[in-house]
Amino acid sequence: MKRGLIVVFTGNGKGKTTAALGLAMRAIGHECRVCMIQFIKGSWKSGELVSAKRFDGLMDIFTLGRGFLFDAEDIEKDKEAAREAWEFAKDIIVSSKYDIVILDELTYLIKYKMVEEDEVIDFLIKKPDKLHIVVTGRDASSRLIDAADMVTEMKAIKHPLEEGMKCQKGIEY
Ligand code: ATP
Ligand code: MG
Repeated sequence: MKRGLIVVFTGNGKGKTTAALGLAMRAIGHECRVCMIQFIKGSWKSGELVSAKRFDGLMDIFTLGRGFLFDAEDIEKDKEAAREAWEFAKDIIVSSKYDIVILDELTYLIKYKMVEEDEVIDFLIKKPDKLHIVVTGRDASSRLIDAADMVTEMKAIKHPLEEGMKCQKGIEY
């Protein structure tokens, strides 16, 4: 019996997005088609965006949304971008163009009420049967955890950024 899973990588430790990318790397080797949708736009160009182009036809990464600004004047723009990104993700999920869809940092959209939690969970539960969906981000909600088949929590024990070290190429981006 093969059934697509809902996988969640959450927790405060580093490794959620890279775990999803590792899974993508593995799946691509089996000719699985992978799509990653990044809901929070980072300020620097990440290596995975470049790498995905090298797996042309097997891996696509879409960077949508804005960085969170927590600026009252801009919150409506953030919400609008988040909602548009979620609509885009829904189209991708039902498109049958991919075997795995990674929803990177989706948990923040739920946590900060940029999208309606019930709507997101209901949609994920009704995903196409064979499709695997991977959700990453801190503070996964209990409803998301309940809906998932597999949940891993990254636990922060030590991180050089806390000692003032700068982000490093290949490690953080
Ligand atoms: P990665 O993309 O490296 O797998 P992540 O997805 O688990 O990390 P996010 O919560 O998306 O982590 O945060 C993004 C950045 O924050 C990463 O570059 C990561 O190194 C950094 N980070 C994660 N955990 C910590 C921590 N405990 N202290 C400081 N910085 C952290
Ligand atoms: Mg991440």
